[in-house]
Amino acid sequence: MKRIFQEAKSGKSANEIGKLLETEHIEKPDVYRIKNGRKPLSGVKNSNYPPYYWSRETITRLLGREEYLGHTVNLRKRSKSYKDKRQINNPKEDWLIFKNTHEAIIDQETFDIVQKMRSHKRSNQRYKNRVGHENLFAGLAFCGTCGRKHYFCPFQSKTGLNHDHYKCSGYRKPIDGCENPHYIQKSALIEIVSEKLRQTIREINLNKEDFLKSLEKQSQAQFSKDNKRQRQQLQKNELRSSEIDHIIQKLYEDNLLGKISDERFVKLSQTYEEEQEQLQTSISDLTEKLAKQQEDSLNISKFMARISKYTELPELTVEIVNELIDKIVIYKPTGTKRNRIIQIDIHYNFIGKLEYEKSESDELTR
Ligand SMILES: [Zn+2]
Repeated sequence: MKRIFQEAKSGKSANEIGKLLETEHIEKPDVYRIKNGRKPLSGVKNSNYPPYYWSRETITRLLGREEYLGHTVNLRKRSKSYKDKRQINNPKEDWLIFKNTHEAIIDQETFDIVQKMRSHKRSNQRYKNRVGHENLFAGLAFCGTCGRKHYFCPFQSKTGLNHDHYKCSGYRKPIDGCENPHYIQKSALIEIVSEKLRQTIREINLNKEDFLKSLEKQSQAQFSKDNKRQRQQLQKNELRSSEIDHIIQKLYEDNLLGKISDERFVKLSQTYEEEQEQLQTSISDLTEKLAKQQEDSLNISKFMARISKYTELPELTVEIVNELIDKIVIYKPTGTKRNRIIQIDIHYNFIGKLEYEKSESDELTR
């Protein structure tokens, strides 16, 4: 299983993984299950089918199974009706997932990366399996002008030069088309992205403390200059809310004892209930904000764990790119000919764009 996820993370398609396992004579899970006296997952009773044939469907199914995270998933399927026992698939929101019921084979991070990668198309039929023409940035490149995804155009010239490039999918759309008609060579994009990653890694290696500080500053600037004030407010609101509970209780008792009239009781308790309602809204608001900040610092450590693996940037691979990068935004070039400049922003996983990074420009274009 680990192997399958690893191959998927490196950018192989379900088809390719299946073929790989077949040539290596690795038995299908069902064959293994039958040998061990267990029921095959596919429901096929006999084991006559080729033991090493991994279909695309099998791989795809396995890659989406949360069971490998250590969770138990129930109600994936249900009988059609009480009488009709045929099984139909339940929609995902109806599944029952019990978290951490057994030991995980795949870690959550790998699983998440693979799911994200699976959500976009990587291969181009004509250039499939041609060395050098892989879609390295599949699903990650976006247009800075209109926000649409860039699509991959592999291309080899008659003289054998690789002219793979990326282009905004909104270009030439008759309605609401993109105003950026330019494309970017894959080789140029690789160079720019590598340089940016290299710079970030270099900064971390030079002075990790400073780098962390600026990340924290960035996340704090966004959410909480006033973390302390929010905490105090939250405390105050909670206190007042429980105070009101007491007051209403007291009013109720006074009313029972005849100390205050029914009419007055209704009026007073209504006012207090309204106040409490407002307090509750503000409490859940503040709690959410504070939780978000906590998540932020957690995200910083998640990012650091990923990038700290590298002291030097190796050649970009599908795996490295997807581990570190959430998206790449490509802006319209400015200047002409030799002075053409393209600005590119990298949004990292977990932490987003590095704000403090001077948006110095890159001189590579088509
Ligand atoms: Zn565009």
